[in-house]
Amino acid sequence: MTEGLGREFCLVCGADPPLYGDRMCESCLRKRINLVQVPENIPWVRCARCGIVEIQGKWVHISEEEIWDELIQRHVHFHEKAEDIGLALESRTISDRHTMLHLQVEGKIENLSFQEEHKMRARMANGVCLTCTRRAGNYFEATVQLRSTGRRLSEEEFTTLRSTLDTVIESLSDDPMFFITSEGPVTGGYDVVLGSKGLARTWGRHLVTTYGGHVAESNSTVGRKDGIDVTRLTLLYRKPGYDIGDVLRWRDNFWRVASWSKDGAIMSRIDRQERTGATWRDLESSNVVAQMKDHVIVDIINEDSSVAEFLDPTNWNMAAVRIAWDHTPRQKLRLARIDGEWLALHKLGCDDENEGKSV
Ligand SMILES: [Zn+2]
Ligand SMILES: [Zn+2]
Repeated sequence: MTEGLGREFCLVCGADPPLYGDRMCESCLRKRINLVQVPENIPWVRCARCGIVEIQGKWVHISEEEIWDELIQRHVHFHEKAEDIGLALESRTISDRHTMLHLQVEGKIENLSFQEEHKMRARMANGVCLTCTRRAGNYFEATVQLRSTGRRLSEEEFTTLRSTLDTVIESLSDDPMFFITSEGPVTGGYDVVLGSKGLARTWGRHLVTTYGGHVAESNSTVGRKDGIDVTRLTLLYRKPGYDIGDVLRWRDNFWRVASWSKDGAIMSRIDRQERTGATWRDLESSNVVAQMKDHVIVDIINEDSSVAEFLDPTNWNMAAVRIAWDHTPRQKLRLARIDGEWLALHKLGCDDENEGKSV
């Protein structure tokens, strides 16, 4: 209020108070300001290959509603004095690329209520995201080689191993480089070529934690870019093909895997009482000769202090075998068939509790 001018009036039309803002009456104010400024057209980019959306330079997986919210946040500008803002949105698809967004907004400016309706056209443009660009260029940083020790894995076992990669990718953040460039079976294994070294290493750790064994890592330099060596990573994972109780040929003797240790297994020798620790690497030279599931349990017909006779389940003829070092009389025999010969196995904690009792 300025002394000396007598009374207040609207600077535009001369109307009496109440006055608002820059000394205008309500109707002059309403003619001059809007609650929101809404652009007519707003562009946005979707990857033409995989459908993900670019939001402020980042490619993200978001729903259509989230796209509209994002566009409104960035492009609809409320009056700086707006308060108690409310916004309702209705979207109408016009064509493949065009969507009309109808906005109903309400709010207060200097305690005057405003209600406005606006529309803006969201125009989709096709782009290609980083992942798709790199995929199309067969980009890769790492190869993971799935192999085994002790025995060849079945196709099913490789399928199970490979499927853990999907689990790992799902559990990680939306990194555009977490993609598979190519994959497929190779002699004795399965290879997966990946867009990210980090993904390869994470998967390698997951495999070791889940299945034991270890990962051997090697790097090769494939060139230079911007003064920095470009390297490729190869991870060789060998899944132990043996399990607790299996019979292995290792260091010229037969052993059973007694238990797992921190970095390998405790091995229990079959022809005499001996236990030793072996690392995963030590066991790379081992061969599985009889898995637990292939062992047979038989009753003894006759026995003396060193040999037991039993009915050979493959032909029902009488056969003889040297008894194991821990054998107790009348105990059943656990047998493994190795190179056409029967071998009596000593007992391990993993063997069936009841099998020792002859019926
Ligand atoms: Zn006025
Ligand atoms: Zn894409």
